[in-house]
Amino acid sequence: MTAGNAAKKGSESGKGALNCKITTQLFKLLENHGIKTHLVKTLDDTHQLVKKVNIIPIEVVIRNIATGSLTKRLGIEDGKVLPFTLVEFYYKEDALNDPILNDEHCIMMDLVKSESDLEELKRLGREINSILKKFFAERNLNLVDFKVEFGVDKDGNILLADEISPDSCRFWDMDTNEKLDKDVFRQDLGSVKVAYEEVLRRILNK
Ligand code: C5P
Repeated sequence: MTAGNAAKKGSESGKGALNCKITTQLFKLLENHGIKTHLVKTLDDTHQLVKKVNIIPIEVVIRNIATGSLTKRLGIEDGKVLPFTLVEFYYKEDALNDPILNDEHCIMMDLVKSESDLEELKRLGREINSILKKFFAERNLNLVDFKVEFGVDKDGNILLADEISPDSCRFWDMDTNEKLDKDVFRQDLGSVKVAYEEVLRRILNK
């Protein structure tokens, strides 16, 4: 496990299987709500069969509550509920530390084919957010922010790809604000596995 573009490293066994289970559950939920994903089926505890796609090199970040790099970059108060769902693009390029992008950067660098693809990424990001935010609220978790990646299949369809797990989302308990995501590792707050198991438990038992 790494954080800060591999500046911090650690390992805890069993996290991969937890993330695989959580991603499978969430992708199935999203498919049931009409979001097209690359998931075909789960093969075993740590493997999924997925459709072949070309990953769009843009990390789409959706934020409901300010924290993390948003508060650091803009000085917004940590924990502030944002007045609207914020969608951001970051360039998926470790060598550059995944810098933030605006729409014109994406077009200029040919990261997508057209402006309408960017609008589609924003629309899908917001749609995924509204489905997941409601789902987690019913499980007493605030979906603070998350990152998704998309890929293009052989027919040109944009599919949700990669993963959605506590590695790529922030979850705060609605009563206590306890963090149940990768910030447990980033900020040395305790056992990552215990936190991720709790997220899976809440996903499975409403
Ligand atoms: O660090 P930052 O506040 O920009 O992260 C926003 C959200 O995107 C967090 O949920 C974080 O876990 C996720 N993220 C990610 N992979 C990255 C950068 C951010 O999953 N490379």
